Amino acid sequence: MKLENKNGVSFLTFDSFKNAGIKHGFSTRIGGVSEGVFDSLNLGFNRGDSDDNVRENYHRIADALDMNYDRMCLSKQTHTTNVIVVDEKDAGNGLTKPLPYDDVDGLITNVKDMPLVTFYADCVPLFFYDPVKEVVALSHSGWRGTVGKIGKVTIEKMQAEFGCDKNDILCGIAPSICRDCYEVSADVAEEFIKAFGEEHKTELLRPSTFNPDDKDKYMLDLWSACRLVFLEAGIPENHIETTDYCTRCNPKLFYSHRIMGANRGSLAAFISL
Ligand SMILES: [Zn+2]
Repeated sequence: MKLENKNGVSFLTFDSFKNAGIKHGFSTRIGGVSEGVFDSLNLGFNRGDSDDNVRENYHRIADALDMNYDRMCLSKQTHTTNVIVVDEKDAGNGLTKPLPYDDVDGLITNVKDMPLVTFYADCVPLFFYDPVKEVVALSHSGWRGTVGKIGKVTIEKMQAEFGCDKNDILCGIAPSICRDCYEVSADVAEEFIKAFGEEHKTELLRPSTFNPDDKDKYMLDLWSACRLVFLEAGIPENHIETTDYCTRCNPKLFYSHRIMGANRGSLAAFISL
């Protein structure tokens, strides 16, 4: 991914999505008006930051990404694998009008000029673009969503609802916690072995580097797991672009739940036809 800056607002973009001409970006902490733990581009409402500051931050990132603030459509993430199709009536959801849904971890649309928005602070942001059927999607893949293969759920819904061909879809894995930073317990590791099979155990799980003597702790590679999910869905390998930015390794650029706990701002993913 490439770190870009416009009017003081920093964000990251995928080369493949850029080359395809689709507006998109993943936010950083840089370029907003929020203070303290929210310093400075917090995009999460109801986290203790002032709504006025969060709205100003949305205006700034909308300008930087050349997207329509008034028609942004936000998710309501609760670590499910619920992915919904949003249409014209959903323009403004969660920003310029109330959210009409709960428990939505993925959004798909073919509506033009209606940016989709999802939220992060270590979990994996997944980006999707089908340039043939002109469909975009975002989904939130934390460890639960990754075990539930929300990336594949999203692709299958794009195919079912819009007739997308898996050979046309571009996929992106955006900034999130890297395999050197993400320690999990044995029960989480077990879920990944169940979901992905013993044959991928050494690729996804390594002994803990933080607690090398604790046999119940593992380092988990969520980026590789999400890539496996895309391959299982039939996406060509050269259509998958994976970030090299870790949210925990770069505290000046990102909020990290593992570092800051709940007392932090939210990063966001954006994509718009
Ligand atoms: Zn890291």
